[in-house]
Amino acid sequence: MRRLSSEKYRLLGWICGLLIIGFLTTITGSYIVSRDTIRQNVVEQSLPLTSDNIYSEIQKDLLRPAFISSLMSSDTFLRDWILNGEAEQTQIVRYLKEVKQKYGMITAFLVSDRTHHYYYADGMLKTVDPNEHRDVWYFRVREMKNEYEINVDIDMANRDAMTIFLNHRVLDYRGNFIGAAGVGLTLDTMAEFLDSYQTRFHRTVYFIDREGQIMLSGRAMRNVRGHIGDLPGISAVARDILNHDVKPTSLEYTRNGETVLLSSRFIPELDWYLLVEQTIAEDVQPVRRMLAISIAISAIVSILILVLTLFAVNRYQTRLQQIAGTDALTGLLNRQAFELVFRQAVLDSERRSTPMCAILFDIDFFKTVNDNHGHLVGDHVLQQIAELARKALRESDIITRWGGEEFLILLKDCPLEQAHTLAEKLRQTIAAHRFVVDGQPVSVSISLGVTQYSAREQLQTFFARADKALYEAKREGRNRVNVSLNTHKQNDA
Ligand code: GH3
Ligand code: MG
Ligand code: MG
Repeated sequence: MRRLSSEKYRLLGWICGLLIIGFLTTITGSYIVSRDTIRQNVVEQSLPLTSDNIYSEIQKDLLRPAFISSLMSSDTFLRDWILNGEAEQTQIVRYLKEVKQKYGMITAFLVSDRTHHYYYADGMLKTVDPNEHRDVWYFRVREMKNEYEINVDIDMANRDAMTIFLNHRVLDYRGNFIGAAGVGLTLDTMAEFLDSYQTRFHRTVYFIDREGQIMLSGRAMRNVRGHIGDLPGISAVARDILNHDVKPTSLEYTRNGETVLLSSRFIPELDWYLLVEQTIAEDVQPVRRMLAISIAISAIVSILILVLTLFAVNRYQTRLQQIAGTDALTGLLNRQAFELVFRQAVLDSERRSTPMCAILFDIDFFKTVNDNHGHLVGDHVLQQIAELARKALRESDIITRWGGEEFLILLKDCPLEQAHTLAEKLRQTIAAHRFVVDGQPVSVSISLGVTQYSAREQLQTFFARADKALYEAKREGRNRVNVSLNTHKQNDA
C-alpha cells in the first residue's frame, strides 16, 4: 500500500509536469510568435513608412522657400539694383521686407558680390569676409555649380537662431555671378512638425548632423542634447547610423533594459540624419496581458485536473484496498477481510476439534505519543508494533488491525495456556523495544486480553470477551496480559 501511495504521487507529479510543459510551451510559443510579428511589422513597415512620410513632409516644406529664393534671384529689379551700383539702399530693404512678410519667412537676404554687403529686411547687416568663419557659406555659394543650396546655420540677423537657409546664386543677364539671395525659415516649424508626429504615432523623431550631434528634436527629447556617441544605449549603434546612406537603415539598441527600434536615413539637402525611434513595449502590451490571462487560466485548469485526478485515484485506491483487504498503514489484514478469514478458521477448528484463541491488544497511552511527537511519529510506532507482532507469530496465525491502535490476533490450533504465553512474550518484546523518535529512544507498552473460542459461539460474544479481558488489563494498570475464561456454557441447540 505504501508503494501504491508513492506511485500515486509519482503519477500526479507526471501529470503536473506534463501540464506545465504543455501549457508553458504553447503559451510562450504563441507569445514569442506574436511579439516577433509585431516587432517585424514595426521594423519592416511602420518605421520606414514614418520615416518616408516625414521625409516627404520636409521636402514639401522646403520646396516653397526654394521657389521663393529662385524667384528672388531672377527678379529683374533685384538684379538691376545691383548692376546699377546699389544706389538706393531703402529700395532693396523694402523689397526684402516685402518678401519676408508676404511669405512668412524668418528672413530674406541679399549679398552683393561687388561690395560684399549683406542686406536684410532691416537694412545692411555687415560686409561678408572670406576670413570670417560665419561668412564661409557665401564664398561656397559663389563657387558652387548648383543654382541653390539648403544650409542649416545660425542667423546673425536673428539673435543667432538656428535657421534653414535657401541660398540662391544671382547672375547678371550674361550669366556672371553678381551675388546671393534667398530666404530663411525657422527651425521651430520643423520642431512643431516633429511634435505632431510624436503625439500621433508614439515615435520619437529627431535630427542629428553628419557628425552625430543632436540638432533638432521635439518636446519629448527637449532635454537630450549632445553627440549620439555619448548617449546611453544609442552609442552602441552610433557608427552604423552615420553611414551617409539616403536609404533608411534599420537598427536596434537597448535603453534602460528596453529594446528601441530605430530607422535612420541621411538627408543630403539638410546634411542631417533623420532618426525615427520606437519601442514596442506599448504594442506588445495587449499580447502581454493575454499571456498573463492564459497563464492564469492554465494554472486553474491544471489545478482542476490535478484535483480531479487525485480524487479519482483516491477513490480507486480505497476501493482497491477494500478489495485487497489490507490496511494501508500497517499492511495487515483489515477488519472486513479478517471476518472472512475468521469464518473459515472457525469452520476448520470445529471440523478438526482443535482449540482456537484470540489476543486483542491496545497500545498504552498512545494519545500521549501522538501529542508529544506528532501524528506521523504515532503512525511510525504503529507500523513498528505491527511488524514486531507479525514477527512473533507463526505463519498460520492471523493478525489484523482491529481499529485505531488496537490489534487482534487469531491463533489457530492453539490452547489457552499457549496463547497466554505468546501474549506475555509479545508484551515483553514490545515493552523491551526502543522505538527511536527524533533520535531519542521512546518506550511503548501494550495491554493484552486473551480468550479461547467456544464451539458454535457467536462472533460478537467471542470478541466481546477478548475486549473485556483487554479492558481488565487496562484497569489493572496496563502493560499486562489478562485472560478471560468463558464462564457461560453454550447451549447446544
Ligand atoms: P490507553 O489506551 O492506554 O487507555 O490510552 P490511549 O492514549 O492509547 O487511549 P486510546 O486508546 O483511547 O487512544 C487511541 C489514540 O490513538 C487516539 C487516536 O488519535 C490514536 N490513533 C488511532 N488511530 C491512529 C493512527 O492510525 N495513527 C496515529 N498516529 N494515531 C492513531
Ligand atoms: Mg484504543
Ligand atoms: Mg490505547
